[in-house]
Amino acid sequence: MDSRYDCLVIGAGMAGAVAARELAERGGRRVLVLERRAHVGGNAYDCFDKAGVLIHQYGPHIFHTNSKRVFDYLSRFTAWRNYQHQVVANIPEGTERMELPVPFNLISLRAVFPPEQAAALEKKLLAAYGPERKVTILELRESADPSIRALADYVYEHVFVHYTVKQWGQRPEEIDPATTARVPVFLSEDCRYFQDEYQGMPLEGYTPMFQRLLDHPDITVETGVDALERLELTEEGILLDGVPFGGLVLYTGAADELFGFRYGRLPYRTLDFTFETYPVDNWQSHGTVNYTMDQEYTRITEFKYLTGQELPGVTTVMKEYSRAYTGAAGEIPYYAIINAENNALYARYKAEADRWSNLHLLGRLAEYKYYNMDAIAARALELCDELLK
Ligand code: FAD
Ligand code: UDP
Repeated sequence: MDSRYDCLVIGAGMAGAVAARELAERGGRRVLVLERRAHVGGNAYDCFDKAGVLIHQYGPHIFHTNSKRVFDYLSRFTAWRNYQHQVVANIPEGTERMELPVPFNLISLRAVFPPEQAAALEKKLLAAYGPERKVTILELRESADPSIRALADYVYEHVFVHYTVKQWGQRPEEIDPATTARVPVFLSEDCRYFQDEYQGMPLEGYTPMFQRLLDHPDITVETGVDALERLELTEEGILLDGVPFGGLVLYTGAADELFGFRYGRLPYRTLDFTFETYPVDNWQSHGTVNYTMDQEYTRITEFKYLTGQELPGVTTVMKEYSRAYTGAAGEIPYYAIINAENNALYARYKAEADRWSNLHLLGRLAEYKYYNMDAIAARALELCDELLK
């Protein structure tokens, strides 16, 4: 038996980092963390670009949660900058362009319709659903009231359908309803993208937060290591570097990859990012601008809004292009495509994993779920509660 470590954690993203910390600190275990990338932090990793701007290499990450446990936990490893994310949809209007708050809310409504019509619609919406209610676009389109349905059609056309086709290659009614429900129509004047109780950005960035999470005498982190080259799942048990490993193994990579894709690939969407640096203080009006009707990219994020970095005369923005994940070298599986067929395929991989009682699948990839960071942190804490009982 390999006696150097009690636990093996594969992946140093939110799932792996929180779990490793818990196993070492609360469980007194010696933990080996293997991470394929050259850095920790998973998709939440951030770093400074050549212009000195703090960027998010794998897509914009804003922390938000209603879980006091998760917020308090992560607050041990970072201070926070109070940041309330706001997003606008940038849409063509004649020869000009217009920006509307997203989620589409009462402010968006008043910007689009003449005052009398907007007031009448507002009244109807509030009577039908109640103030401060979040109504999904699919629900709104089912309204029995023709004027509410007409509004729903407007929002569907101007905010949802084209963006969703760009992001998923499918229309809103064809994808998991929980996906568009993330961005409901909001019967409120609150223009924030999230309404969670706790939200913000790690004051010095995500990477230092992850480094502190993993900084523990009983945690060893090896980056640039593909764990699947060192791990073997055999009938007799799990081998690490060819030696039986009887300790806990927490795997946060893709479930199909762990088993050599033996039942076929789990479908994902991947993203291509382009970064552009401009010699101006600020380049766009908000942290994120969604291009909901045209352009090839889905959205543009300007990091300085998120991070609050003070750096006059220079800024970096990022455009996101979504496409089908093929598994080609260098591609990253970013979004699981949740539907009954894919969930059934995932269940076959999960059943395989369950054959090893010391092997646990944890995280957005390993669980094939559309999880935000806080949900992953909560999952990691709960799994460790269970394992350390
Ligand atoms: P990951 O971050 O993917 O980490 C898994 C790690 O495992 C990776 O570092 C990977 O390299 C490693 N790994 C995989 N296989 C192996 C192997 N064989 N050997 C060694 N290492 C391996 N959430 C929010 O809360 N707010 C946001 O604003 C937000 N924005 C997002 C924007 C985008 C574009 C995307 C794609 C996601 C966003 N998320 C956001 C979700 C967030 O990224 C995830 O919830 C979180 O990163 C999941 O953590 P994880 O540890 O499960 O997975
Ligand atoms: N969405 C949309 N238009 C928007 C914003 C979101 O159609 O302006 C839909 C789209 O289907 C998207 C989903 O809502 O994939 C969830 O959006 P969110 O911003 O939560 O996605 P993420 O940040 O996870 O990419």
